[in-house]
Amino acid sequence: MTGGAGYIGSHVVHGLVDRGEHVVVLDNLATGFRAAVPGAAHLVVGDVGDGDLVGTLIAEHRIDTIMHFAASTVVPESVAHPAAYYLNNTAGSLVLFDAAARAGIRHVVFSSTAAVYGSPARQPVVESEPPAPLSPYGTSKWVTEMMLRDIAAATPFTFVALRYFNVAGADPGGRTGQSTRAATHLVKAAVQAVLGIRAGLEIYGTDYPTPDGTCVRDYIHVTDLAAAHLAALDHLRAGGASATLNCGYGHGYSVRQVVDAVKRVSGGDFPTADRPRRPGDPASIVADTRAIRQALAWVPAHDNLDAIVRDALAWERRLAAQG
Ligand code: UDP
Repeated sequence: MTGGAGYIGSHVVHGLVDRGEHVVVLDNLATGFRAAVPGAAHLVVGDVGDGDLVGTLIAEHRIDTIMHFAASTVVPESVAHPAAYYLNNTAGSLVLFDAAARAGIRHVVFSSTAAVYGSPARQPVVESEPPAPLSPYGTSKWVTEMMLRDIAAATPFTFVALRYFNVAGADPGGRTGQSTRAATHLVKAAVQAVLGIRAGLEIYGTDYPTPDGTCVRDYIHVTDLAAAHLAALDHLRAGGASATLNCGYGHGYSVRQVVDAVKRVSGGDFPTADRPRRPGDPASIVADTRAIRQALAWVPAHDNLDAIVRDALAWERRLAAQG
Protein backbone atom coordinates (compact mmCIF):
# COMPACT_ATOMS: atom_id res chain seq x y z
CA MET A 1 0.00 0.00 0.00
CA THR A 2 1.28 3.49 -0.78
CA GLY A 3 0.49 6.39 1.52
CA GLY A 4 -0.40 4.14 4.44
CA ALA A 5 1.01 6.64 6.94
CA GLY A 6 -1.48 9.26 5.78
CA TYR A 7 -4.98 10.10 6.92
CA ILE A 8 -7.12 7.79 4.80
CA GLY A 9 -4.44 5.18 4.16
CA SER A 10 -3.82 4.63 7.86
CA HIS A 11 -7.50 3.87 8.45
CA VAL A 12 -7.38 1.26 5.70
CA VAL A 13 -4.15 -0.25 7.11
CA HIS A 14 -5.95 -0.74 10.43
CA GLY A 15 -8.90 -2.34 8.64
CA LEU A 16 -6.60 -4.71 6.73
CA VAL A 17 -4.53 -5.63 9.78
CA ASP A 18 -7.77 -6.29 11.68
CA ARG A 19 -8.59 -8.82 8.95
CA GLY A 20 -5.21 -10.50 9.24
CA GLU A 21 -3.82 -9.24 5.92
CA HIS A 22 -0.06 -8.87 5.42
CA VAL A 23 0.38 -5.15 4.73
CA VAL A 24 3.48 -3.42 3.38
CA VAL A 25 3.26 0.37 3.53
CA LEU A 26 5.37 2.47 1.15
CA ASP A 27 5.31 6.08 2.32
CA ASN A 28 7.87 8.87 1.98
CA LEU A 29 6.54 10.48 5.19
CA ALA A 30 6.35 13.86 3.41
CA THR A 31 2.89 14.37 4.88
CA GLY A 32 2.39 11.02 6.62
CA PHE A 33 3.23 9.97 10.16
CA ARG A 34 5.24 6.95 11.20
CA ALA A 35 3.04 6.58 14.28
CA ALA A 36 -0.07 6.24 12.10
CA VAL A 37 1.12 2.86 10.82
CA PRO A 38 0.20 0.04 13.20
CA GLY A 39 3.03 -2.20 14.37
CA ALA A 40 1.60 -5.21 12.55
CA ALA A 41 2.18 -3.52 9.18
CA HIS A 42 5.61 -3.28 7.57
CA LEU A 43 6.60 0.35 6.87
CA VAL A 44 9.10 1.11 4.11
CA VAL A 45 10.11 4.77 3.85
CA GLY A 46 10.41 5.50 0.15
CA ASP A 47 8.79 7.02 -2.88
CA VAL A 48 6.13 5.66 -5.24
CA GLY A 49 8.19 7.21 -8.04
CA ASP A 50 11.01 4.75 -7.29
CA GLY A 51 10.12 1.97 -9.73
CA ASP A 52 13.01 -0.27 -8.72
CA LEU A 53 11.98 -0.14 -5.07
CA VAL A 54 8.35 -0.88 -5.99
CA GLY A 55 9.40 -3.89 -8.08
CA THR A 56 11.64 -5.21 -5.32
CA LEU A 57 8.94 -4.86 -2.66
CA ILE A 58 6.33 -6.63 -4.79
CA ALA A 59 8.67 -9.56 -5.39
CA GLU A 60 10.02 -9.75 -1.83
CA HIS A 61 6.65 -9.66 -0.12
CA ARG A 62 4.72 -11.47 -2.88
CA ILE A 63 2.29 -8.58 -3.08
CA ASP A 64 -0.88 -9.31 -5.08
CA THR A 65 -2.71 -6.00 -4.63
CA ILE A 66 -1.63 -2.38 -4.57
CA MET A 67 -3.74 0.21 -2.80
CA HIS A 68 -2.46 3.57 -3.96
CA PHE A 69 -3.19 6.44 -1.55
CA ALA A 70 0.04 8.44 -1.71
CA ALA A 71 -0.70 11.86 -3.19
CA SER A 72 -0.78 15.58 -2.62
CA THR A 73 -4.38 16.45 -1.84
CA VAL A 74 -4.94 20.16 -1.23
CA VAL A 75 -6.97 21.85 -3.99
CA PRO A 76 -5.76 25.47 -3.49
CA GLU A 77 -2.15 24.29 -3.14
CA SER A 78 -2.50 22.53 -6.51
CA VAL A 79 -3.67 25.79 -8.08
CA ALA A 80 -0.53 27.51 -6.77
CA HIS A 81 1.88 24.63 -7.54
CA PRO A 82 0.47 22.63 -10.46
CA ALA A 83 3.76 21.10 -11.59
CA ALA A 84 4.37 19.69 -8.12
CA TYR A 85 0.94 18.05 -8.26
CA TYR A 86 1.49 16.53 -11.70
CA LEU A 87 4.91 15.28 -10.66
CA ASN A 88 3.85 13.72 -7.38
CA ASN A 89 0.35 12.51 -8.28
CA THR A 90 0.46 11.79 -11.99
CA ALA A 91 4.09 11.03 -12.81
CA GLY A 92 4.54 9.17 -9.51
CA SER A 93 1.48 7.02 -10.21
CA LEU A 94 2.69 6.24 -13.72
CA VAL A 95 5.98 4.85 -12.39
CA LEU A 96 4.11 2.88 -9.74
CA PHE A 97 1.57 1.35 -12.17
CA ASP A 98 4.25 0.54 -14.71
CA ALA A 99 6.42 -1.17 -12.10
CA ALA A 100 3.37 -2.98 -10.69
CA ALA A 101 2.29 -4.23 -14.12
CA ARG A 102 5.81 -5.50 -14.87
CA ALA A 103 5.93 -7.28 -11.51
CA GLY A 104 2.67 -9.09 -12.29
CA ILE A 105 0.40 -7.43 -9.76
CA ARG A 106 -3.16 -8.81 -9.78
CA HIS A 107 -5.22 -5.88 -8.47
CA VAL A 108 -5.03 -2.12 -7.92
CA VAL A 109 -7.28 0.04 -5.74
CA PHE A 110 -6.74 3.70 -6.55
CA SER A 111 -7.67 6.81 -4.55
CA SER A 112 -9.37 9.15 -7.00
CA THR A 113 -11.54 12.12 -6.21
CA ALA A 114 -14.83 13.89 -6.89
CA ALA A 115 -12.64 16.79 -8.00
CA VAL A 116 -12.41 15.05 -11.40
CA TYR A 117 -16.01 16.17 -12.06
CA GLY A 118 -15.45 19.88 -11.48
CA SER A 119 -18.86 21.48 -11.18
CA PRO A 120 -21.25 19.09 -12.92
CA ALA A 121 -24.64 20.39 -13.99
CA ARG A 122 -26.46 17.15 -13.15
CA GLN A 123 -26.38 16.16 -9.47
CA PRO A 124 -26.13 13.85 -7.68
CA VAL A 125 -23.30 13.16 -10.11
CA VAL A 126 -23.01 9.74 -11.77
CA GLU A 127 -19.71 8.14 -12.74
CA SER A 128 -20.49 8.46 -16.47
CA GLU A 129 -20.50 12.25 -16.22
CA PRO A 130 -17.60 13.53 -18.39
CA PRO A 131 -14.81 14.78 -16.12
CA ALA A 132 -14.13 18.52 -16.18
CA PRO A 133 -11.83 19.28 -13.23
CA LEU A 134 -11.50 22.85 -11.96
CA SER A 135 -8.11 22.38 -10.34
CA PRO A 136 -4.73 20.81 -11.14
CA TYR A 137 -5.43 18.42 -8.25
CA GLY A 138 -8.56 17.14 -10.02
CA THR A 139 -6.77 16.93 -13.35
CA SER A 140 -3.79 15.12 -11.81
CA LYS A 141 -6.16 12.42 -10.54
CA TRP A 142 -8.23 12.23 -13.73
CA VAL A 143 -5.13 11.68 -15.87
CA THR A 144 -4.03 9.00 -13.40
CA GLU A 145 -7.41 7.26 -13.75
CA MET A 146 -6.94 7.17 -17.53
CA MET A 147 -3.41 5.80 -17.26
CA LEU A 148 -4.64 3.12 -14.88
CA ARG A 149 -7.47 2.17 -17.24
CA ASP A 150 -5.15 1.91 -20.23
CA ILE A 151 -2.41 -0.02 -18.43
CA ALA A 152 -4.98 -2.41 -16.94
CA ALA A 153 -6.48 -3.00 -20.40
CA ALA A 154 -3.09 -4.16 -21.68
CA THR A 155 -2.21 -6.35 -18.66
CA PRO A 156 -4.01 -8.99 -16.59
CA PHE A 157 -4.63 -6.85 -13.50
CA THR A 158 -8.02 -5.45 -12.52
CA PHE A 159 -8.68 -2.22 -10.61
CA VAL A 160 -11.18 -0.21 -8.65
CA ALA A 161 -10.80 3.58 -8.72
CA LEU A 162 -12.71 5.16 -5.85
CA ARG A 163 -13.74 8.78 -6.37
CA TYR A 164 -13.74 10.17 -2.84
CA PHE A 165 -16.10 12.97 -1.95
CA ASN A 166 -15.24 14.98 1.21
CA VAL A 167 -13.61 12.66 3.71
CA ALA A 168 -13.78 13.62 7.38
CA GLY A 169 -13.93 12.17 10.90
CA ALA A 170 -11.58 9.70 12.50
CA ASP A 171 -11.41 6.10 13.65
CA PRO A 172 -14.17 5.76 16.29
CA GLY A 173 -11.74 3.65 18.36
CA GLY A 174 -9.28 6.58 18.43
CA ARG A 175 -6.47 4.61 16.76
CA THR A 176 -5.83 7.08 13.93
CA GLY A 177 -7.16 10.31 12.43
CA GLN A 178 -6.18 13.40 10.46
CA SER A 179 -2.90 14.44 12.06
CA THR A 180 -1.76 17.24 9.73
CA ARG A 181 -1.33 20.31 11.90
CA ALA A 182 -1.87 23.00 9.29
CA ALA A 183 -5.22 21.59 8.30
CA THR A 184 -6.98 23.05 5.28
CA HIS A 185 -10.00 20.75 5.16
CA LEU A 186 -13.20 22.15 6.56
CA VAL A 187 -14.23 19.72 9.32
CA LYS A 188 -10.72 19.55 10.75
CA ALA A 189 -10.30 23.34 10.55
CA ALA A 190 -13.65 23.97 12.26
CA VAL A 191 -12.85 21.45 15.00
CA GLN A 192 -9.50 23.15 15.58
CA ALA A 193 -11.31 26.48 15.81
CA VAL A 194 -13.76 25.31 18.45
CA LEU A 195 -10.92 23.82 20.50
CA GLY A 196 -9.01 27.11 20.34
CA ILE A 197 -6.16 25.58 18.33
CA ARG A 198 -6.85 28.22 15.69
CA ALA A 199 -8.37 31.65 16.19
CA GLY A 200 -11.45 31.09 14.04
CA LEU A 201 -12.65 29.92 10.65
CA GLU A 202 -12.69 31.70 7.33
CA ILE A 203 -15.65 30.86 5.11
CA TYR A 204 -14.52 30.88 1.49
CA GLY A 205 -17.39 32.21 -0.58
CA THR A 206 -20.85 33.20 0.59
CA ASP A 207 -22.38 34.10 -2.79
CA TYR A 208 -22.62 30.63 -4.37
CA PRO A 209 -25.93 29.54 -5.93
CA THR A 210 -26.68 27.25 -2.94
CA PRO A 211 -29.39 27.50 -0.25
CA ASP A 212 -27.24 29.57 2.17
CA GLY A 213 -24.65 30.86 -0.30
CA THR A 214 -21.80 28.63 0.93
CA CYS A 215 -20.41 25.56 -0.84
CA VAL A 216 -22.16 22.21 -0.48
CA ARG A 217 -20.13 19.00 -0.12
CA ASP A 218 -20.93 15.33 0.44
CA TYR A 219 -19.01 14.56 3.68
CA ILE A 220 -18.19 10.89 4.19
CA HIS A 221 -16.88 9.33 7.41
CA VAL A 222 -13.36 7.99 6.88
CA THR A 223 -14.33 4.65 8.44
CA ASP A 224 -17.03 4.12 5.80
CA LEU A 225 -14.49 5.03 3.14
CA ALA A 226 -12.02 2.53 4.59
CA ALA A 227 -14.76 -0.13 4.48
CA ALA A 228 -15.29 0.66 0.79
CA HIS A 229 -11.61 -0.17 0.17
CA LEU A 230 -11.94 -3.53 1.90
CA ALA A 231 -15.07 -4.21 -0.14
CA ALA A 232 -13.20 -3.25 -3.32
CA LEU A 233 -10.44 -5.70 -2.42
CA ASP A 234 -12.98 -8.50 -1.88
CA HIS A 235 -14.67 -7.64 -5.17
CA LEU A 236 -11.43 -7.82 -7.14
CA ARG A 237 -10.21 -11.00 -5.45
CA ALA A 238 -13.55 -12.65 -6.24
CA GLY A 239 -12.92 -11.94 -9.93
CA GLY A 240 -15.01 -8.78 -10.11
CA ALA A 241 -14.64 -6.42 -13.04
CA SER A 242 -12.67 -3.18 -12.98
CA ALA A 243 -14.79 -0.21 -11.94
CA THR A 244 -14.69 3.48 -11.17
CA LEU A 245 -17.01 4.31 -8.28
CA ASN A 246 -18.15 7.35 -6.32
CA CYS A 247 -17.58 7.25 -2.56
CA GLY A 248 -20.02 9.52 -0.80
CA TYR A 249 -23.41 9.38 0.91
CA GLY A 250 -25.55 11.04 -1.75
CA HIS A 251 -26.46 14.14 0.24
CA GLY A 252 -24.59 17.30 1.05
CA TYR A 253 -24.07 19.95 3.73
CA SER A 254 -23.09 23.58 3.33
CA VAL A 255 -20.07 25.15 5.00
CA ARG A 256 -22.42 26.91 7.43
CA GLN A 257 -24.16 23.63 8.27
CA VAL A 258 -20.79 22.08 9.10
CA VAL A 259 -19.92 25.07 11.29
CA ASP A 260 -23.26 24.70 13.10
CA ALA A 261 -22.71 20.96 13.59
CA VAL A 262 -19.27 21.55 15.14
CA LYS A 263 -20.76 24.11 17.55
CA ARG A 264 -23.70 21.84 18.38
CA VAL A 265 -21.72 18.67 18.96
CA SER A 266 -18.94 20.37 20.95
CA GLY A 267 -21.16 22.79 22.85
CA GLY A 268 -18.52 25.43 22.05
CA ASP A 269 -18.30 28.50 19.86
CA PHE A 270 -15.80 30.20 17.56
CA PRO A 271 -15.74 33.22 15.25
CA THR A 272 -16.18 32.91 11.50
CA ALA A 273 -15.23 35.46 8.85
CA ASP A 274 -16.78 35.65 5.38
CA ARG A 275 -14.10 35.62 2.70
CA PRO A 276 -14.04 35.61 -1.12
CA ARG A 277 -14.38 32.38 -3.06
CA ARG A 278 -11.37 30.07 -3.14
CA PRO A 279 -9.99 29.26 -6.64
CA GLY A 280 -10.89 25.79 -7.88
CA ASP A 281 -13.97 25.30 -5.68
CA PRO A 282 -17.23 24.07 -7.26
CA ALA A 283 -20.43 25.42 -5.67
CA SER A 284 -21.80 21.98 -4.93
CA ILE A 285 -20.78 18.37 -5.40
CA VAL A 286 -22.86 15.41 -4.24
CA ALA A 287 -22.41 11.75 -5.20
CA ASP A 288 -24.82 9.40 -6.86
CA THR A 289 -24.01 6.27 -4.84
CA ARG A 290 -25.96 3.60 -6.68
CA ALA A 291 -22.93 2.14 -8.45
CA ILE A 292 -20.80 1.48 -5.37
CA ARG A 293 -23.73 0.10 -3.41
CA GLN A 294 -24.43 -2.32 -6.23
CA ALA A 295 -20.90 -3.29 -7.28
CA LEU A 296 -19.40 -3.65 -3.79
CA ALA A 297 -22.52 -4.27 -1.66
CA TRP A 298 -21.22 -1.34 0.39
CA VAL A 299 -23.57 -0.01 3.07
CA PRO A 300 -22.37 2.99 5.06
CA ALA A 301 -22.48 2.69 8.85
CA HIS A 302 -21.61 6.28 9.86
CA ASP A 303 -23.82 8.41 7.60
CA ASN A 304 -24.36 11.16 10.17
CA LEU A 305 -22.71 14.60 10.21
CA ASP A 306 -22.78 14.80 14.01
CA ALA A 307 -21.01 11.44 14.29
CA ILE A 308 -18.35 12.60 11.81
CA VAL A 309 -17.82 15.76 13.86
CA ARG A 310 -17.82 13.83 17.17
CA ASP A 311 -15.07 11.50 15.97
CA ALA A 312 -13.07 14.38 14.45
CA LEU A 313 -13.34 16.25 17.77
CA ALA A 314 -12.23 13.24 19.80
CA TRP A 315 -9.18 12.79 17.57
CA GLU A 316 -8.26 16.48 17.74
CA ARG A 317 -8.49 16.41 21.54
CA ARG A 318 -6.23 13.37 21.56
CA LEU A 319 -3.68 15.17 19.35
CA ALA A 320 -3.83 18.25 21.54
CA ALA A 321 -3.25 16.17 24.67
CA GLN A 322 -0.15 14.66 23.03
CA GLY A 323 1.19 18.20 22.57
N1 UDP B 1 -13.75 25.80 3.43
C1 UDP B 1 -13.93 26.99 4.14
N2 UDP B 1 -13.03 27.32 5.14
C2 UDP B 1 -11.95 26.53 5.44
C3 UDP B 1 -11.78 25.32 4.70
C4 UDP B 1 -12.68 24.99 3.71
O1 UDP B 1 -14.88 27.73 3.90
O2 UDP B 1 -11.17 26.89 6.33
C5 UDP B 1 -14.72 25.43 2.39
C6 UDP B 1 -14.12 25.28 1.01
O3 UDP B 1 -14.11 26.53 0.34
C7 UDP B 1 -15.06 24.29 0.39
C8 UDP B 1 -15.49 23.40 1.54
O4 UDP B 1 -15.21 24.15 2.72
O5 UDP B 1 -16.21 24.93 -0.09
C9 UDP B 1 -14.74 22.10 1.61
O6 UDP B 1 -13.36 22.38 1.45
P1 UDP B 1 -12.23 21.34 1.80
O7 UDP B 1 -10.92 22.06 1.65
O8 UDP B 1 -12.53 20.71 3.11
O9 UDP B 1 -12.37 20.18 0.71
P2 UDP B 1 -12.40 20.23 -0.90
O10 UDP B 1 -13.87 20.27 -1.26
O11 UDP B 1 -11.64 21.43 -1.36
O12 UDP B 1 -11.75 18.95 -1.29
